[in-house]
Amino acid sequence: MMIPRSHPRYRSLMIREKLADGFRRGLVHETGLIAHGRGEAFDYLLGERTLDISLKAEKVATALLLLAENPVISVNGNTVALAGRECVELSKKIPAKIEVNLFHRSEERVRRLAEVLRSFGAEEVLGEDAEERIEGLDHPRGICSRDGIYSADVVLVPLEDGDRCEALIRMGKKVIAIDLNPLSRTSRTATITIVDNVVRAIPNMVRWVDELKREDRERLHELVDGWDNEKYLREVLNRISKRIKSDQVIRLDHEPL
Ligand code: ATP
Ligand code: MG
Repeated sequence: MMIPRSHPRYRSLMIREKLADGFRRGLVHETGLIAHGRGEAFDYLLGERTLDISLKAEKVATALLLLAENPVISVNGNTVALAGRECVELSKKIPAKIEVNLFHRSEERVRRLAEVLRSFGAEEVLGEDAEERIEGLDHPRGICSRDGIYSADVVLVPLEDGDRCEALIRMGKKVIAIDLNPLSRTSRTATITIVDNVVRAIPNMVRWVDELKREDRERLHELVDGWDNEKYLREVLNRISKRIKSDQVIRLDHEPL
């Protein structure tokens, strides 16, 4: 479908179109389309832009990735459909491994997603023929790669499920979650949560790498150690409620929604 650029909801509609296209190509699971709906409702409340505090969360998360011994970016269908190219770019810049890891696993979908990532320039994609298990999860949901998530010290998981996030934390890993819902179990469980749309968060992190690569490790540690995830989530909720309470938001000429 052609969406006219002049449409006031152009960007949001384009994102939906990308997902629908990903679904038709067998990359996105049908439940991924529903999960997107929950995400975009929160994005609407945020004003569909990156909050200043979330840009800071992205900076701190990037610092944590740069400090990691074995950082892994875990991607699913929605993430590849919306920000696959940018995930590959981030993985090269950190550098971090990239693993296809699916909630609704099918070998065929893993293969297709890995292929797409390779077409974006990824040299190695983990997740095919995965041989290990995330402890405490049932079989298909727990499958992961030995050199990837299984042995990672830091995992970046855009759009993760709460149960799996908890299991990764129980394994002693540091988890960076990208989740538009500040109330989800994923958001509340992760080491560092980024409440932002994956289409904005990943490119922002790519930009942070360039800036943070000039800093020494001590400064990166300071950034990470000084971050309070709970305080951040509370502040995001404050921002959302303030925005809803403002009488401006109800006016039809109010920007940007
Ligand atoms: P949890 O399992 O963590 O309690 P949930 O069950 O409510 O959360 P899931 O369906 O497991 O949610 O995961 C989908 C999550 O991904 C949702 O919380 C949603 O806000 C988020 N999400 C969807 N699309 C995006 C996106 N484009 N960018 C960032 N987050 C998104
Ligand atoms: Mg869930």
